[in-house]
Amino acid sequence: MALIVQKYGGTSVGSTERIRNVARRVAHFHQQGHRLVVVVSAMAGETNRLIGLAHELSASPNPRELDVVAATGEQVTIGLLAIALSEMGLKARSYTGSQVRVLTDNTYTKARILEIDGQRVRKDLDEGAIVIVAGFQGVDSDGNITTLGRGGSDTSGVALAAALKADECQIYTDVDGVYTADPRIVPQARRLEKITFEEMLELASQGSKVLQIRSVEFAGKYKIKLRVLSSFDDPEATPEGTLITFEEEENMEQAIISGIAFNRDEAKISVMGVEDRPGIAYAIVGPVADANIDVDMIVQNIGASGHTDFSFTVHRNEYQKALSVLGQSKDKHFKAREIIGDNQICKVSVVGIGMRSHVGLAAKMFKSLADVGINIQMISTSEIKIAVVIDEKYLELAVRELHKAFELEGAPQPG
Ligand code: ASP
Ligand code: MG
Repeated sequence: MALIVQKYGGTSVGSTERIRNVARRVAHFHQQGHRLVVVVSAMAGETNRLIGLAHELSASPNPRELDVVAATGEQVTIGLLAIALSEMGLKARSYTGSQVRVLTDNTYTKARILEIDGQRVRKDLDEGAIVIVAGFQGVDSDGNITTLGRGGSDTSGVALAAALKADECQIYTDVDGVYTADPRIVPQARRLEKITFEEMLELASQGSKVLQIRSVEFAGKYKIKLRVLSSFDDPEATPEGTLITFEEEENMEQAIISGIAFNRDEAKISVMGVEDRPGIAYAIVGPVADANIDVDMIVQNIGASGHTDFSFTVHRNEYQKALSVLGQSKDKHFKAREIIGDNQICKVSVVGIGMRSHVGLAAKMFKSLADVGINIQMISTSEIKIAVVIDEKYLELAVRELHKAFELEGAPQPG
């Protein structure tokens, strides 16, 4: 008998029929004697719809009120799921984030969880009830409703698992696990039985949308056993999905490369012919950061005759804003020949813990891109990742070629 937190995403609760299906799965686990806490997202498309309504009334809605609106999606699904479970003769109780007391800071629309009070949930569990909690939402210390950022229900699930010291956190979604690449682009992509937490963190930060990155960070911090599963499989079956493991605990035969991630939402900005002097990187990036724009990859050329070029990437949504910030700080904070940009780029990354102990992987990656004539514009690496920026029109080609080059379809399963 275990304490299990299950999180169901928007497509899994996208209709009353699907909610009934979720109820069946929950009931199945309950009948096996497990204690269950179920975290749900809003019905598919609902959060977009709610945010859209707010934008019909204002180009930049007040963030506090936007959260009041956006948080309602999850309140609907918790109630509906509780009703479906009661209909099956089970004791179920639903709670909003504020009722549980998922305490967050007050950064509306992307609040961070500070603390979760598990008391009420534990009491219900002790009484044999199934507890249903609204994902994505919390409450600040003044009682204001907050939300955790898009995809935030994953983080609600993992954070609750941590607070309740659950034995496992199961994330149910519309795919049956984490794949070597997005199967919509690479049909030969394989489901991974296991992936290390560090690889999952890299994949999430490099653009894989399977899990919200904060949820992975949480799982790492509290060593939560996390599993990604499909909610469309037979509720009576016991699919394995993908288990996110902690390397030091698992002595597994790890494949060198685990997966390929990509991100289309990127844009590149180059500041050409800036002076090559101390403080120039700060003079360029400082005002961009002050404008709350996230800077990702940064490349500075070797200087020649006292000048250099400086390039970095930002989220595509913030491209225009970054350009105008630079336009304002040019001549004030730094001198440059010109500032150019490109918002038709993408980032493709190869991730694998095996990189730590194998050489030649970067060369292999660059060769396979060169073989199909793809020009690499920027490169960045970490201990377990190599990422390149390329023209967006080559994204699919690059992902497929790399999947082939690293033999991911046939690679032995770790574990
Ligand atoms: N409903 C929220 C969203 O669409 C949170 C979530 O589904 O994780 O972003
Ligand atoms: Mg999601």
